[in-house]
Amino acid sequence: MITEVQNYFIHQSEIYGKDFYLDLKKSSSVVTEPPPTTQTIEQFNSEIKDCHKCELSKSRTQLVFGSGASDAKLMCVGQAPDSDSDKQGRPFSGATWELLSKILLAIKFPIDDIYFANVIKCHPPENRDPQEIEITECLPFLNTQIELIKPVVILALGRTAAQSLLGVRESVVSLREKENYYRDIPVFVTHHPGDLLKNSELKRATWEDVQKLRKVFDELAN
Ligand code: SF4
Repeated sequence: MITEVQNYFIHQSEIYGKDFYLDLKKSSSVVTEPPPTTQTIEQFNSEIKDCHKCELSKSRTQLVFGSGASDAKLMCVGQAPDSDSDKQGRPFSGATWELLSKILLAIKFPIDDIYFANVIKCHPPENRDPQEIEITECLPFLNTQIELIKPVVILALGRTAAQSLLGVRESVVSLREKENYYRDIPVFVTHHPGDLLKNSELKRATWEDVQKLRKVFDELAN
């Protein structure tokens, strides 16, 4: 029987050949370096667009890779494409996208300067939460996206994004009170805009979180 770790190595070898290594010093989770080539985010997209590594390949219309500026200093990470995103091929869509855009514009981030992605690249049926095995299979793709984009700051939207990036099991409520890092990159944890649409009482906390992000971003990026 293949263990999760063996499965991980098989997966990585299929993508990168033998040219990947582990950095266990800076993270509790297993993280890969991007391939040592001039690979671009677009090349990486075409490399994985036919991925069938988990069951979600059967329920998707298309793999939703990510969108936005390939040199973005801010990267926003959500959970998975919903049914509209699945059809449109964009990581966020509809009312969720409208609210997220408004929040980011309110802290003066031009939308075109940001990169957006999800932990999971294929739409889970009925918009259900992704399963552990699906996260394990798909997370290396997000790791590589981050390595290629090289953001200064990451905004993790919701539990799946926060826990997957940070390699922890804590709640959003707990993580948003802490200083978090993905490798050396500050990660600000807040509620997913989809959750704000269901519970407007979360908006106040989200507003506080993004204002903190803006402050740190200005210190680091300027
Ligand atoms: S969810 Fe990720 S691992 Fe699963 S098929 Fe889609 S791209 Fe591949």
